[in-house]
Amino acid sequence: MGKGFVQEVTAMEDDFAQWYTDVVKKADLVDYSSVRGSMIIRPYGYAIWENIKNELDHRIKETGHENVYMPLFIPESMLQREKDHIEGFAPEVAWVTHGGDEELTERLCVRPTSEILFCEHYKNIIHSYRDLPKLYNQWANVVRWEKTTRPFLRTLEFLWQEGHTCHVDAEDAKEETTRMLNVYADLCENILAIPVLKGQKTEKEKFAGADFTYTIESLMHDGKALQSGTSHYLGDGFARAFGIQYSDQNGEQQFVHQTSWGLTTRIIGAMIMVHGDNRGLVIPPKIAPTQLMIVPIAQHKEGVLDFAYDLKEKLSSIARVGIDASDKKPGWKFNEYEMKGIPLRLEVGPKDIEKEQVVLVRRDTGEKVFIPLNELDTTITKLLAEIQNNLYRKAVKLREKRTSVALSFEEFEDKLENHGGFIKAMWCGETSCEEQIKEKTSATSRCIPFEQESLSDQCVCCGEKAKEMVYWAKAY
Ligand code: AMP
Repeated sequence: MGKGFVQEVTAMEDDFAQWYTDVVKKADLVDYSSVRGSMIIRPYGYAIWENIKNELDHRIKETGHENVYMPLFIPESMLQREKDHIEGFAPEVAWVTHGGDEELTERLCVRPTSEILFCEHYKNIIHSYRDLPKLYNQWANVVRWEKTTRPFLRTLEFLWQEGHTCHVDAEDAKEETTRMLNVYADLCENILAIPVLKGQKTEKEKFAGADFTYTIESLMHDGKALQSGTSHYLGDGFARAFGIQYSDQNGEQQFVHQTSWGLTTRIIGAMIMVHGDNRGLVIPPKIAPTQLMIVPIAQHKEGVLDFAYDLKEKLSSIARVGIDASDKKPGWKFNEYEMKGIPLRLEVGPKDIEKEQVVLVRRDTGEKVFIPLNELDTTITKLLAEIQNNLYRKAVKLREKRTSVALSFEEFEDKLENHGGFIKAMWCGETSCEEQIKEKTSATSRCIPFEQESLSDQCVCCGEKAKEMVYWAKAY
């Protein structure tokens, strides 16, 4: 770790919310804007988003999808067509009522999500079974008028991708719903080093207008859960509302079955809250805009800067490498790149050059090692892989440590209060029990995991016959 380290962020044990706010600001990820709940994503934050986007876009295309772009506005009359959908979104919709000075004859909604726009389009371009499946995705911004907001986690305007697909039947659409949930899980676990629980949302928590919603849920450092991505099976409800029909192989008219799925800038918040520490961000190597930062020591001495620049060029073929040759003190630079979560720091000074070695410092463990120049390539590649694995393992351990079982309501309250994290408990399937649990404990159902366990045969709330096991938690 850097010498002369000064505590620049609030300790997470003291005030986790303040720690989070300090980190997003001090690591230069965001700045606040003049509109409540809207954020300016600064270059470093945007570079992280671009890497996430590239990884996900690649996977979306690999699974056969094409990117498109839909308009920002939805006419009010169009929005009314699918009843459940509009009821769910109405409280969060922003409206445009004027164009210049003139009042519009029909209000325009700023898209909170684009099912409606895709449906309008699909109605016009799908006619035959030969037109199916239609596998579209868009990268866009959407607006939801949230009451409480926090950078990345919940903002009025956020960036995301939204997939919208049409299929010949329910089976094909359900397969797609699962496929895309798995794509999200793969991105989270293998790239962002965030372990996720996969499961289904309850009726109460599902997407407005969906038959069912699949979700990936992750656990933050403070023991709160975060819904990190969702994949919805829409059935044929939207198709019926919008008249999206095709003629099948027998010439008969059928409604398409649809899916939609989205992952947002919120995932950056998850990365911060899963891996970060009291020195700031910790970015998994696979997503880090800079994986290795070179800090020259005594750079005014002859040959040091040339040597450092030469190293940068050589190492650029194996990692994303940066160099800070500014006239700031090395100690300042160490703190700065620790705050920014850069996985590896390389220090090189006159003595190292003489000994044909450099110093490497890991961000995740603070471990410092001297490496002979001829072993540098292999060591960097090895360390980056080790850091990636270590972050994932640590996150899994944290989740294991903070997951408990509750067989009675008293136990539920006790575990939640004293342990935080996920509570596994049996549930009868009734929304009234879910509501009671929320009211009494402020925990919500996170998901009905695909991997079920039978903990008991009684609902943790009412004691009636249990239907399934549910993960519960306080959540962002
Ligand atoms: P939905 O279309 O409602 O299923 O939302 C898709 C995903 O967006 C959810 O799984 C959340 O992770 C994320 N999300 C929802 N609201 C917000 C928000 N206000 N800011 C950032 N991300 C959000």
